[in-house]
Amino acid sequence: MPALDPATREALEARLRFYRELGLTDFYRRPVDASQMSAVAPEGELGGAGEAIAPGLATEARNGITQTSTPQENEPIPPRKSFQAPPPVAPEVPTADRAAALRLIREEIGDCTRCALHKGRNQIVFADGDANARLLFVGEGPGADEDAQGLPFVGRAGQLLNNMIAAMGLKREEVYIANVVKCRPPQNRTPEPEEANTCSPFLFRQIDVVRPEVIVALGATAATYLLGQRQPLAGLRGRVHSFRGSKLIVTYHPAFLLRDPRQKKEAWADLQIAMRELGLKAGNS
Ligand code: URA
Repeated sequence: MPALDPATREALEARLRFYRELGLTDFYRRPVDASQMSAVAPEGELGGAGEAIAPGLATEARNGITQTSTPQENEPIPPRKSFQAPPPVAPEVPTADRAAALRLIREEIGDCTRCALHKGRNQIVFADGDANARLLFVGEGPGADEDAQGLPFVGRAGQLLNNMIAAMGLKREEVYIANVVKCRPPQNRTPEPEEANTCSPFLFRQIDVVRPEVIVALGATAATYLLGQRQPLAGLRGRVHSFRGSKLIVTYHPAFLLRDPRQKKEAWADLQIAMRELGLKAGNS
């Protein structure tokens, strides 16, 4: 594919981010008849000359034209990546020992070089919050602010997450916050399966120590690697899943809500499911 001009690249990145938040993460390239490109995608919106990038098996509408993104018969779609089996649930840690148990996990991670993400990070972002929290949030991975401060969700998305937590009637210090990967992916891209599968066993162990009553998965990446299945968020939201002895609720990632605030209502409905499970009444929303 020829190099993209900055505007096209930005538009393409925005679209891919949007698809990713919807849980569409498998993409393939297919040749496109250049004479039809202007009809389905205005210049600068999608793809380079002679190629388009489309989410797997999606049908999308652009400029009022519906286009079914079916791969050409002679172009095999790469097989879906498999998830590794999660480790067995660890024995319960007494509440008084949970903070120390989490410190041991952090020590075991050490100055980690287990995956390629270590090359670009400034700091490992382990987690933040109460080792005995009843509610645990899982995000995707640190961004620039988190990488600089060594704490999860301290940038703009973190501000929104703080507001969401306050709306639930809780303080940030009362919950536990962690990510699928503990090192910042370059350009904040989605963690590769290899990276997520290398790091997530530590997250599972953190979850086993904290033993929250409720886990909220923020966005498709968290939902995918916790539940071990790739599904659009629409199919996972709005219900209570069972996960390692906790109840798991899936909602949108705060960064997605910053881009599309209309979805906040939906996210609030998800958080209300979490509140119901925790027996909480709404706080200062
Ligand atoms: N986004 C995440 O998924 N995690 C963070 O810690 C910050 C932003």
